[in-house]
Amino acid sequence: MINSRDIAALHPVVAARARAFLTRCEGEGIELLVTSTYRDHESQNALYAQGRTRPGKKVTNARGGQSFHNWRVAFDMVPLRHGKPVWGTTGEDGRLWQRVGAIGKAQGLEWAGDWRRFREYPHFQYSGGLSIADFQAGRSL
Ligand SMILES: [Zn+2]
Repeated sequence: MINSRDIAALHPVVAARARAFLTRCEGEGIELLVTSTYRDHESQNALYAQGRTRPGKKVTNARGGQSFHNWRVAFDMVPLRHGKPVWGTTGEDGRLWQRVGAIGKAQGLEWAGDWRRFREYPHFQYSGGLSIADFQAGRSL
């Protein structure tokens, strides 16, 4: 099972945008922790089982092959304050997330913090307009 935190495991186009994003955040004094980049299908299926056939809270609606992470075009991160992850999304925490989201978008990334369905602040991706169905059909960036 592979659940990578390595930017180098992403598609090169996405890795370049992710690196630019991290550099820009660093430049503004925002420290980030990348928590997930590429996940293989097996690892995705294990996540999907969580909260369904295995204990824990549901964390995804995607099975193996249905997540952009499985196609190397998505990553998750969390901003840190004094070395601790910031999970809150209101007040000062919310402003930090919005800033991080804006920096990511300025690097040509799509930010799931903007999504109405399945809003997910930690998730950024660049699929070049391709859908999951496109990737499953063998297309790539
Ligand atoms: Zn994600």
